Amino acid sequence: MEAMSVNTKIVIIGCGIAGISAAHRLFKAGFHNVRILEATARSGGRIKTGALGDRIVEIGANWIHGPCKENPVFCLAQQYGLLDPEALTPENQAMDVGGHPPWVPNFFSSSGRKLNAEDVFPALEMFAELLNEGSEFPNQGGEPFSNMGEFIRSEVQQRSEEKWKDIDANTRSLQLCTISNMLKVECSVNGAHSLDEVGLGAYGLYKTLPGLDCTFPGGFEGLVKNLISELPGGLVTYSRPVRRVHWSNSERRENPVEVECDDGEKITADHVIVTVPLGYLKKHHSTLFDPPLPLHKLHSVQRLGFGTNNKIFVEFDSPWWDADCEVIHLIWEDEDAVVDTVLDIQGSWIKKLFGFTVLKPTERYGHVLCGWIAGHESEHMETLTEQEVTHAVTQLIRRFTGNPTISPRRVLRSQWFHDPWTCGSYSYPGKGCSEQDLENMREPLPWKGSQSKPLQVLFAGEATHPCYYSTVHGALLTGWREADRLISLYSNVSEPLKSKL
Ligand SMILES: Cc1cc2nc3c(=O)[nH]c(=O)nc-3n(C[C@H](O)[C@H](O)[C@H](O)COP(=O)(O)OP(=O)(O)OC[C@H]3O[C@@H](n4cnc5c(N)ncnc54)[C@H](O)[C@@H]3O)c2cc1C
Repeated sequence: MEAMSVNTKIVIIGCGIAGISAAHRLFKAGFHNVRILEATARSGGRIKTGALGDRIVEIGANWIHGPCKENPVFCLAQQYGLLDPEALTPENQAMDVGGHPPWVPNFFSSSGRKLNAEDVFPALEMFAELLNEGSEFPNQGGEPFSNMGEFIRSEVQQRSEEKWKDIDANTRSLQLCTISNMLKVECSVNGAHSLDEVGLGAYGLYKTLPGLDCTFPGGFEGLVKNLISELPGGLVTYSRPVRRVHWSNSERRENPVEVECDDGEKITADHVIVTVPLGYLKKHHSTLFDPPLPLHKLHSVQRLGFGTNNKIFVEFDSPWWDADCEVIHLIWEDEDAVVDTVLDIQGSWIKKLFGFTVLKPTERYGHVLCGWIAGHESEHMETLTEQEVTHAVTQLIRRFTGNPTISPRRVLRSQWFHDPWTCGSYSYPGKGCSEQDLENMREPLPWKGSQSKPLQVLFAGEATHPCYYSTVHGALLTGWREADRLISLYSNVSEPLKSKL
């Protein structure tokens, strides 16, 4: 296989983890005519380590979700020596948290009170129950609602009337406000504007791995740097956006694919692996492919969701949360219904920020919080100046703590929606989505039954993984998957045929 593969020309579009892992796999299998075209001046894509003062912070991916032996990101990180010893312990790898790590919470309310966890326990319990039930619909039609939001709201109304009929009106109202907070948490987790946009049947397609989520003490980008260092220098061309991919649905040509760059350069290839984010694909599919995507694939691109989740890092001189606290929830007491969106986005966007995670350990990070805000409110936040964001966050914290003197030392936010090469944060199964859509996403061009040369255009990237979408390990596995597809194409054909392919 080796001699033939050397000449097979493969172009990969995008140097995020999916593009890098595809190149890595191909190169190791003997394909040496591989190059990556990357629009920006850096590799990593949505893995992006930044700085807040002299501390590192993750602008994009933060955790290895489910760090266990089945998680390739965990295995590579371990191999490269990038993790703390604690993350490597068997206990850590065996802990099955079902995607929701058991973080120690603090709750603050909009009237400036710190609440006890017991005060909101009934709401947390009911919400956890509903998420579980929501993920158990089999995605075969027949669900009671089309989306998670309606399902949760309707169940909350029914169950609260039964279960909480004997508790006083104030306590009951606090539970409903807490449910609104939990809905906003889920908007961030799913990267969706509202749970009304997340398909009920499809919600359960996402699978978790065992292991207590861990972080990279030296930054997630360390993983990217290690992988890139094992590829030949010059394999990646930076600042080279691709404008159009010309493929062939009918004729048989020598080099059937032509990649046209923004600067006008045209590169021919035997195969192209497209790893651009789903947000970019939704916006640019009509100009990116010539001929256009087949309708069934296009409909799946449109049905799958791709929303925004941003971070706002806030540094303080001293903490206003408990020493053991890992997550802070901000509960608005003036929300009169169970809601996860804000009506007046310009005036009240900050109400969508569900709270903060605490960067740990303190010796490494100091007193830094990471605020989380999803949806259109988050997209509006991106348009504001850093001073405006700082002002809004300062007012918010003063209100919830009841302490009018608290002032952050530094603030830094991400802006994923306005990143022209990402156009949002990550994918989720939208309303009406099914497993078939995820299968269509990863289907190569031309599709089955075509007479033209097979596997001209292949698709990788987080949104093409059937159950680990929206994660780094999912994206990495899709890069390997598409590399393997090509590797097996060439290992399955006889020598005389190979020269014709
Ligand atoms: C705020 C945030 C938090 C997250 N947290 C986590 C987390 O804790 N754990 C986790 O597992 N995952 C997390 N994720 C998701 C994770 O970052 C992604 O799933 C993963 O990094 C996606 O990798 P990818 O290779 O599919 O896409 P990307 O990393 O987006 O790579 C695509 C590349 O294509 C390039 N590109 C786009 N258009 C073109 C073009 N026309 N020509 C050339 N190049 C182009 C882009 O510049 C980019 O470099 C988070 C994401 C965000 C935004």
